[in-house]
Amino acid sequence: MPLSELLAGYPLAFVSTALVLGLVIGSFLNVVVWRLPKMLERDWRQQAQDVLGLPIETPGPAFNLMLPHSQCPHCAHRIRAWENIPLLSYLALRGRCSNCKAPISARYPLTELACGALSAFVAWHFGFGWQAAWVLVLSWGLLAMCLIDADHQLLPDVLVLPLLWLGLIVNSFGLFASLHEAMWGAVAGYLLLWSVYWLFKLVTGKDGIGHGDFKLLALLGAWGGWQILPLTVLFSSLVGAVGGVILLRVKEVKTSTPIPFGPYLAIAGWIALLWGGQITDFYWQFVGFK
Ligand SMILES: [Zn+2]
Repeated sequence: MPLSELLAGYPLAFVSTALVLGLVIGSFLNVVVWRLPKMLERDWRQQAQDVLGLPIETPGPAFNLMLPHSQCPHCAHRIRAWENIPLLSYLALRGRCSNCKAPISARYPLTELACGALSAFVAWHFGFGWQAAWVLVLSWGLLAMCLIDADHQLLPDVLVLPLLWLGLIVNSFGLFASLHEAMWGAVAGYLLLWSVYWLFKLVTGKDGIGHGDFKLLALLGAWGGWQILPLTVLFSSLVGAVGGVILLRVKEVKTSTPIPFGPYLAIAGWIALLWGGQITDFYWQFVGFK
């Protein structure tokens, strides 16, 4: 039986495949989330030195997504293949480096677990087909963006823009919305937060939201069409407000500290893409219009 028939005929086979794939991708996302901001910072520093006419630092050893090989930050012990199996290695090593026994951050297996669970859920929600395949790609990208934004208040263009284009491309086949709806979703998503940004800046003189957030909402609009924008903005503001208050209380951050809005937008947009239709139907029924 060809693999595609097996996956299409047996939902459990598809969900399990997505789970394993998600764990492996999650392991790779750990690398992306850790290294990509450092790679970008290195590029920006060199560009700035170039523009300012300063001597450009000689580039150190290669630093990209493949090199150098992963190593223990404490003892520089090189992580071997068997120590790099998602989730299982962490459990087998009991969360410690095999060489120096320094604790490994629980964040790595948790990211792998989250990515695996998310992937299995997407496979289950959509069933075998193109929608599941592309939402998997989108979910992995959004997960990486959420973590990078939470760490650095940065939504890298190299992640956001390709996924924005991809949303328009998949919808040129009408996968989640018509191309017309997707195009206006991208435009309206960008303009919406752009307007909020300028309004806030004119009134308070401060930067309220980052430019990355405009592009992220444009991305979400490109995938779900303009229809998902109201729900996405509503959800993200609600969750963002609650999350912000909790952060202010728990971590005692100052009100002037920028709170990354990207994760809230990404989560809300993802929910709106998967259930937007049902949620708005429920709402209209609730207020008695249907
Ligand atoms: Zn070590």
